[in-house]
Amino acid sequence: MIDQEKIRKAVRLLLEGIGEDPDRDGLAETPDRVARMYGEIFSGMDADGSEPLAKVFRVDNSEMVLEKDIVFYSMCEHHMMPFYGKAHIAYVPDGKVVGLSKLARTVELFAARLQLQEQMTGQIADAVMRFLKPRGVMVVLEAEHLCMTMRGVKKPGSRTVSIAARGVFEENTGLQNRFFQMLQS
Ligand code: ZN
Repeated sequence: MIDQEKIRKAVRLLLEGIGEDPDRDGLAETPDRVARMYGEIFSGMDADGSEPLAKVFRVDNSEMVLEKDIVFYSMCEHHMMPFYGKAHIAYVPDGKVVGLSKLARTVELFAARLQLQEQMTGQIADAVMRFLKPRGVMVVLEAEHLCMTMRGVKKPGSRTVSIAARGVFEENTGLQNRFFQMLQS
């Protein structure tokens, strides 16, 4: 659970640490604002993806389903700085599909915690396998990490790409290629 009082105290200390006066006009409300904001952006701490992926629809075919350009915002656990970008998810159904907004919701839940991009990619893929039980799933995340681009380690706008493949996507390179072709179209 989010402890807003602890966050408020910590932000105050942080402000003092960087040499600020936490009591000056512009900063007086900042610890409280940050605490409330953290309540929102870390609201997915305990979610496992079961909620959005629970409501399934029966289908007869097993054609690949692709949901691309799902925008997400997360926080890197190494620097507590945002990384954000797009998620693309494809799966081959085994008799069941979910509403398209549910995949976006799943991404949102796994983004709403301290994260590593590679880990988040795997968690989304594993949740889809576990709760939707398709024949396979493939997840691609492309994101800009402010902890890198803001400090000039990498060029602004440069993106990190991570991939997770499960089930039929692991072995079937033809299927993987079709996924990447569909991403481009
Ligand atoms: Zn970082």
